[in-house]
Amino acid sequence: MFADLPRNDLGSTITAQIANLLRPVHARCDWYPSNTLSSTHHPSLAIAEHAAPSTQLHPRPRSRYPNPMSPVPLSLEGKVALITGGSRGIGAATVRLFREAGARVAFSYRSARETAESLAASCGGPDACRAFQADLASPEDGRALVRSAIEAFGRLDILVANHGVWPPHDAPIAELPESQWRTTLAVNLDSVYGLIQAAVAQFQAQSSPGHVVLISSTAGQRGEAFHADYAAGKGALISLTKGLATELAPHGIQVNCVAPGWVRTDMSASTLDNPGSRDRVLQAIPLGRPADPIEIAGPILFLCTPLAGFITGEIVNVNGGAVLVG
Ligand code: NDP
Repeated sequence: MFADLPRNDLGSTITAQIANLLRPVHARCDWYPSNTLSSTHHPSLAIAEHAAPSTQLHPRPRSRYPNPMSPVPLSLEGKVALITGGSRGIGAATVRLFREAGARVAFSYRSARETAESLAASCGGPDACRAFQADLASPEDGRALVRSAIEAFGRLDILVANHGVWPPHDAPIAELPESQWRTTLAVNLDSVYGLIQAAVAQFQAQSSPGHVVLISSTAGQRGEAFHADYAAGKGALISLTKGLATELAPHGIQVNCVAPGWVRTDMSASTLDNPGSRDRVLQAIPLGRPADPIEIAGPILFLCTPLAGFITGEIVNVNGGAVLVG
């Protein structure tokens, strides 16, 4: 398969090709956390920079994909995405990354209007990125948000159901109030059902392929003591992913799930900013740190690109090695 490569050392040729693939993606994303993707800390990027000069000798193969800026098929040019809970944390990082990849993005927020409007403006304004206020606590709330996104951009290709709540205080099951149980499941599960239902109806009306990405949690995989409401809802998203992936595959609709471990956001701040609980949490993460939101957004983007064209029904673990499930 390497017969048509220029005649030089095969190892350095491959290294140069890898460098060619990595460099532009890194260069265009200036908001990557410096501690995760700088060349000093990330071995593959260090290789990329070391190998850069020799890439001149090997012209890139012509791309089959539409974005001429992107030599690897991570472009979402022409696609419309709806990302829920996009005002902060993982959702905001995903909004930015999807805009970087060329998608038009509708995203929701519950109460952070100013932050959301400012993010939408910085991501291209109304023609490219719009924020919608939505308190997502029922199936109909989810359906209504999908309708708003379609009214704004005329179509829908990708749904990322990311919004969620995690009641931070420990609640032993004997004392867990029914009101908390109902609210957590209403927000984290019922609204997701409505979102998926309306999004899938739109994909089918368009007769086009589509992507659904659900954001679960390690809590949905191994449970979470004293947070039974949260763990039950996140576990249900995993089952939903698998069932719907099989059901919707004949329609060209891929359904996948990203299950993050600890991520540095407002949701986790009460735990990660407390030295006692932080140390306990970090000891259980082989990589020894929480994720930055962009490290969750990256896998979400990947799942919506042609590179993931044969992946459906998958639960992608993004947890620093904390929970290893196949
Ligand atoms: P944040 O708390 O930082 O942000 C939550 C987002 O969801 C905000 O945009 C918020 O809107 C929105 N939201 C909250 N409640 C509602 C509601 N009732 N209706 C509509 N929107 C709502 O969360 P993260 O970024 O940390 O988490 C994103 C997802 O990742 C969640 O599903 C979470 O369960 C999951 N996750 C997070 C982990 C972590 O360590 N952070 C670990 C594992 C999974 P507004 O800004 O207006 O309040």
